[in-house]
Amino acid sequence: MFNKILIANRGEIALRILRAAKELGIQTVAVHSTADQDAMHVRLADESVCIGPPPAAQSYLNIPEILAACEITGAEAVHPGYGFLSENARFAEILEAHNITFIGPKSEHIRVMGDKIAAKDTVKKLGIPVVPGSDGGVTDDDEAAKVAEEIGYPVLVKASAGGGGRGMKLAKTAADLSNALQSARSEAKAAFGDDAVYLEKYLEKPRHIEIQILGDGQGNAIHLGERDCSLQRRHQKVWEEAPSPALNNEQRNRIGGVVAKAMADLGYSGVGTIEFLYEDGEFYFIEMNTRLQVEHPVTEAITGIDLVHEQIRIAAGGRLTLKQEDVEFSGHAIECRINAEDPATFAPSPGRITYYHPPGGLGTRVDSAVYQGYLVPPHYDSLIGKLIVHGRSRVECMMRLRRALGEYVVDGIKTTIPLFVELVDNPDIANGMYDIHWLEKHLDL
Ligand code: ADP
Repeated sequence: MFNKILIANRGEIALRILRAAKELGIQTVAVHSTADQDAMHVRLADESVCIGPPPAAQSYLNIPEILAACEITGAEAVHPGYGFLSENARFAEILEAHNITFIGPKSEHIRVMGDKIAAKDTVKKLGIPVVPGSDGGVTDDDEAAKVAEEIGYPVLVKASAGGGGRGMKLAKTAADLSNALQSARSEAKAAFGDDAVYLEKYLEKPRHIEIQILGDGQGNAIHLGERDCSLQRRHQKVWEEAPSPALNNEQRNRIGGVVAKAMADLGYSGVGTIEFLYEDGEFYFIEMNTRLQVEHPVTEAITGIDLVHEQIRIAAGGRLTLKQEDVEFSGHAIECRINAEDPATFAPSPGRITYYHPPGGLGTRVDSAVYQGYLVPPHYDSLIGKLIVHGRSRVECMMRLRRALGEYVVDGIKTTIPLFVELVDNPDIANGMYDIHWLEKHLDL
């Protein structure tokens, strides 16, 4: 096991990782920008190193500074959290070259899954169902038109290097295709420096259902069930729950089994998430995230398994000790992402938190790094906390969520808490009747 790890992240996830490391008896090193010198992860870490000015490109993405921080402190491993350098294959390789362990999968797996065309091809060969579409990239417009006719309109043009919904364009009919191809290519070129695009059948009313997996890179992999993340705004998840209101046990075990076997065959190491769209009883792979997800606590709530403990143990060379039959699902969990944003316009609302009171009580978890008097800096993602509630049933979970939201007080800035207060009383949400378009339609009304 490691003696000391460095956490190359900030905010709630830095604190989440720090807690897991402390529980395992591992020393922690925090890194931070000058904007984060008073941050909770810095205060609670055993050591901290300032790695640069506020812009992430000069601090949390600054590989030479992070390496220097490892050398100064003698950290043996780096946990990248999510975002920032967590899916940067080059970073993983550089650490490896310096004999520092990257707490994540092998760099080759990060690289292949970061390229959507290669990812789709890889998982398809491993037996995972994918969205019907072009076989690889499309370069020629006439060829693209032929493929689009075959799969049937509407079709989606997607960037191979895409992320955050960028480089994705819808062609409703053949007349829209050449425009969609062009704008997807130029958006992808500008955002990612790579204009490779491919075609996919556009699903009209899918749910977003993702499977959490855990592998040890030594031939063992298990699944920890699914999360339903259909409630999204601009492709950003807002509310996540497990289990999905749309799946039964048999469907869960079937898709989970397919995914776990595929990951064992791939030799995948660490935690990972296979994202699917789910429509009319069928699963269609869209992408794999080779890191810890923001919404991992809902899985922890229903399985009792600490995913960060597992990540660290596996990165230290341990074998997966859990077997599929050891994983038991208990009750229902929901996570609400609390952002420092205006709940009506979603405009960022950084600033000083003048009063802070998080909810507590049975089945109530708050993952947050803020405190009364904390200044939410304007430089980063607006997520300031996650409220995760667990109940024996979905009904109990919703009752608890309503109660917990009522207790949550964040003064001085605007937050998205009022949005959740409204959602928890919506009949469609109460019935679990929503797809990936539901929230945007609801917000338009
Ligand atoms: P990104 O990496 O840019 O987030 P994804 O492939 O994960 O791209 O897709 C993001 C979101 O776009 C999905 O959650 C879904 O809402 C929508 N989407 C992606 N592919 C399709 C598709 N074939 N049909 C309908 N919606 C899709």
